[in-house]
Amino acid sequence: MIYYDTVSKVYYGVGSIMTMNERMLTGTMKINAKNHLEIGGVDTVDLVQKYGTPVYVYDIARVKEQADKFKKTFKQKNVKAQVAYASKAFSSLALYQILAKEDVSLDVVSGGELYTAIQAGFPSQRIHFHGNNKSESEIEAALDYQIGCFVVDNFYELEMLDRLSREREQMINVLIRVTPGVEAHTHEYISTGQVDSKFGFDLNSGQAQKALQSIAGMPYIELLGLHSHIGSQIFETEGFTMAIETLLKQAKQWQEDFGFELKVLNLGGGFGIRYIPEDEPLAIEEHTTAIIESVESSIKELQLSMPEIWIEPGRSLVGDAGVTLYQIGSQKKIPDVRQYLAVDGGMADNIRPALYDAKYTGILANRANDATEETYSIAGKACESGDMLIWDLPLPKAESKDILAIFSTGAYGYAMASNYNRIPRPPVVFVENGKDFLAIKRETYADMLRLDQSINAE
Ligand SMILES: *Cc1c(COP(=O)(O)O)cnc(C)c1O
Repeated sequence: MIYYDTVSKVYYGVGSIMTMNERMLTGTMKINAKNHLEIGGVDTVDLVQKYGTPVYVYDIARVKEQADKFKKTFKQKNVKAQVAYASKAFSSLALYQILAKEDVSLDVVSGGELYTAIQAGFPSQRIHFHGNNKSESEIEAALDYQIGCFVVDNFYELEMLDRLSREREQMINVLIRVTPGVEAHTHEYISTGQVDSKFGFDLNSGQAQKALQSIAGMPYIELLGLHSHIGSQIFETEGFTMAIETLLKQAKQWQEDFGFELKVLNLGGGFGIRYIPEDEPLAIEEHTTAIIESVESSIKELQLSMPEIWIEPGRSLVGDAGVTLYQIGSQKKIPDVRQYLAVDGGMADNIRPALYDAKYTGILANRANDATEETYSIAGKACESGDMLIWDLPLPKAESKDILAIFSTGAYGYAMASNYNRIPRPPVVFVENGKDFLAIKRETYADMLRLDQSINAE
């Protein structure tokens, strides 16, 4: 048993850095008798033999476990709810098919995510369409598929929805996205709830109210309620409860002034996960319980009827279910300064360290419990000094061809992957119950030339 004191930031109890890393083993992950990292009953060293490196591996039991935790509290407390997976964290046919069976809903933010969901056979009534600049053709596609709800971001979109719904004589359900002026404690680049944001209608200046009043004159638009998303990687419940109080007070005012009825309160996503041992995310049930209790107490005080609660977890459904496996190649030792280990991937498959200064940790998957003797900084292979995945990672003495597993890469990893330096995107493998399934194939060099045109005549 080890114990992490969040005040002094110290671990107590027996153990090396390795015991710290045990905190990173979520879901079905474990170190097996061969001293290898095992996920979903599959040895990661075998996965590397079969699929090569880099490769993203997802513990599907963990994804399902997280989805169940999000749904559980609402069920227990008999609160009508929708848990909508925020697709942007990681979108693929196979994942959508798994989630469709898990009875979750889906947020999409582009025609591409929408198309993927429809191709996956995801029930369109459970799809919600987000985004601050939906194009007319994206909206038309969503109308053709008869998706469940549009989360309206701005007047430009609202006017387009009004026009298209009249032309087609088709009813559209909408939520109004508002910025409630609440900012979750998180990295600046990934905060979206504060007033100065590109997203949503501002509550304080009256924009949101103007949107509400315009909708009253739109015959085919059915306003279900309000949406807010206050940020990402949130480790406390206060941000949500502040947003709830603000939104419900506003709903009450609009009820009195305009007869507005709040049927749905969508509180967005942003539930934090553990990227490094020091992270202390709340249990999912703590978030959902706090949200439910706060809504219940506010509606009682304000004498409103209970709305459906919708939430939109992205990272917290898939983030810590994902691990990236790399092979170690070159090493560089600068005496008294630093030791670099270079892996066969980097910013092309995980841009978050370069983009947000995001922190990760990892282990040698093929020698998982060996004592840590060295400190290495993990470099990617792209032609950028900023292509560093981890600074100062304690590891056993590493050799070329060792396998480095980086934890918690399941969200915004593959989804943000690029072909920078014409590096092909790695494959995605799902593991569960001792079986592996290739969910996305490795990109080939030919794949990368698929859209290129040669100027030499044939
Ligand atoms: C990004 C986003 C989410 C998901 O955020 P996570 O941090 O991945 O949970 C949910 N809702 C909206 C509107 C978002 O933009």
